[in-house]
Amino acid sequence: MASTKPPLMASGTCPICSRPTDADYRPFCSRRCADVDLSRWLRGAYAIPDAESEDGDTAEPDGGETGRED
Ligand SMILES: [Zn+2]
Repeated sequence: MASTKPPLMASGTCPICSRPTDADYRPFCSRRCADVDLSRWLRGAYAIPDAESEDGDTAEPDGGETGRED
């Protein structure tokens, strides 16, 4: 049996500023860092790449339901 545990909890350091984690704001060290991470996450969530569905690359053929046989 291996007794080596992977550092799942990152040994209690804030991912934002690398300070010791506060139990109240895990995995962050303070509410501020939690806020920073949250705003980052929200930015990413709201960053919708709408420059891809504009080229008409997925042009469907008209009358594709003809079901013709070979
Ligand atoms: Zn922090």
